[in-house]
Amino acid sequence: ASTHSKKPSWLRVKLPIGQEYARVRNIVDEYKLHTICQSGNCPNMGECWGAGTATFMILGNVCTRSCTFCAVATGRPNEYDADEPRRVAEAIKLMGVKHAVITSVNRDELKDRGAEVWYQTVVQVKEASPKTTIETLIPDTKGNWDALYRMIEGGQEVVSHNMETVERLYRNVRPQAKYARSLEQTKRTKEFGKRTKSGIMLGLGETQEEVFKAMDDLVENGLDVLTLGQYLQPTKMHHEVIEWVHPDTFAMYKEEGLKRGLKYVESGALVRSSYHAEKHI
Ligand code: SF4
Ligand code: SF4
Repeated sequence: ASTHSKKPSWLRVKLPIGQEYARVRNIVDEYKLHTICQSGNCPNMGECWGAGTATFMILGNVCTRSCTFCAVATGRPNEYDADEPRRVAEAIKLMGVKHAVITSVNRDELKDRGAEVWYQTVVQVKEASPKTTIETLIPDTKGNWDALYRMIEGGQEVVSHNMETVERLYRNVRPQAKYARSLEQTKRTKEFGKRTKSGIMLGLGETQEEVFKAMDDLVENGLDVLTLGQYLQPTKMHHEVIEWVHPDTFAMYKEEGLKRGLKYVESGALVRSSYHAEKHI
């Protein structure tokens, strides 16, 4: 059954106020950058930006895909900004974060899927902030493995690729993605020598057995770190929240994931791929 009830109490968050928050906002604006914090209506902005960190979203803010949970605009992107890597690098240097998380939209229309901009971004962030560790939350390269390797060879410490949901719900939730292809991307990333990470949203109608199966598939394909969080509906046009997953259930999933062989599991209603990411480098 679907739920129209109000958000439960454990989803209440800090208000976005304070000096650090304003400082992050100014840097994002000044360098004309996009963040998934804003584009994804993330509930943790008060906490993360208040602590001086944000997740930049490169390659524009229009995505070629139309995942039914996602608040990022779908369309034909026209932005290809070869200067973006430099601005991201400068912004991260100015923010002075120890661990930087970067993501992007999908650019299926580009032959290289945006891999060159990805590569340049990682290299330039490393040059500008040699002590900063980098985590890249990369899109599905649609089986273009050369593009994958280019995206991950710039020297980042962690490579994430989110499964987002269980296999049965792909057609409805990630219509342009394939479960097996995303698993293969993680496998290849691991074989390339990177720390691998993925995320699944809960509350989209998945069963517990399906979540366990996804965990097993991910372990089998070389996953190190898994994040599990509550799906929140960005607008009425998006996928419904089918379930508010209870904190005890999140705790159970964490235990199960570790038992099944994952190295780290971050599991909680407000957990997002980039939430407290510095803990799993
Ligand atoms: Fe941004 Fe990630 Fe923090 Fe959300 S959890 S505000 S997306 S850095
Ligand atoms: Fe959103 Fe990523 Fe799906 Fe694009 S590919 S619609 S940015 S989740």
